[in-house]
Amino acid sequence: MDLALCLDVGGTKIAGALIDRKSNSRFGISIPTPIESTEATVAAIEKLIKDLLDKAKSIGKVKGIGVGIPGTVRYPEGFVVTAPNLPISNLPLKQLLEEKFKLLVRVDNDANLAVLGERYFGKARKCNDVVLLTLGTGIGSGLFLGGRLYRGSTGTGAELGHMIIKANGPLCSCGARGCFEVLASGVALERLAKDLVKSAKSSVLVELAEGKISKIEGSLIAKAARLGDKQALAAFAELSFWLGIGLANIANIFNPELILISGGLAEASDLLLEKAIKIMTEIALEPNGSMVKVEVAALGQKAGLIGAAVLVFQV
Ligand SMILES: [Zn+2]
Repeated sequence: MDLALCLDVGGTKIAGALIDRKSNSRFGISIPTPIESTEATVAAIEKLIKDLLDKAKSIGKVKGIGVGIPGTVRYPEGFVVTAPNLPISNLPLKQLLEEKFKLLVRVDNDANLAVLGERYFGKARKCNDVVLLTLGTGIGSGLFLGGRLYRGSTGTGAELGHMIIKANGPLCSCGARGCFEVLASGVALERLAKDLVKSAKSSVLVELAEGKISKIEGSLIAKAARLGDKQALAAFAELSFWLGIGLANIANIFNPELILISGGLAEASDLLLEKAIKIMTEIALEPNGSMVKVEVAALGQKAGLIGAAVLVFQV
């Protein structure tokens, strides 16, 4: 049986899997990501690959290695340019792994792999124009346009999280102001909720956080909102507004048939999407806004691993 050895390298864990041509995971494993040094992170990646290669011997033949990175990656070189949460910026990762394991290696941005996974085995099957947004701590994006993955001229494009949607808005981790990411991500939700509870007389959210504003985070805000907490609902309302503006831009620029939402905030889609879609439809040009479907992605955290397998088997 042909296998793809797939890794999804995240800021807190590295997930690994042996995946067959039909996207079935034959073996999966995950380890914490060491982030104290470049050497430690690379050593953990290499150790996980070695363990998976050993495991694969009893299952089938490894055709190649696919790796997803949360950052900008020059493709096809597989050179990691920046990875904000990991010490592996400016690293020729594909070259390192090819030299070490003598196998075909593909290294790409994690959201690019997630959209590939959804396109071939998830909710976007047979779609030729689909945009995937990962709404987590930040906003990642993968663009599958005109029947192929779109990466831009050096492979580092498709960064919808850094389109500027509010001039002179809050400062983004990238150094610019008013990016989509700083207004509509998990970090934005926390910032909004923390600001709102400061002026509140009573707050279910603060009670849930045991009186500590510093403990307020995404899942608590969602819980409080579902209990009818005013500030939590107001935070989601503002987040939905900015998400709607971002969706309208995406609908106008790419005219996709489908926009998929994944990442931690997808779990709060009941609190977010209705208003965001309404705003998108009001703002976007016709028919772009009214024809595009906005849905929660199907594969969840597995999308990146499955996309890495697609990339390995495509070559
Ligand atoms: Zn930015």
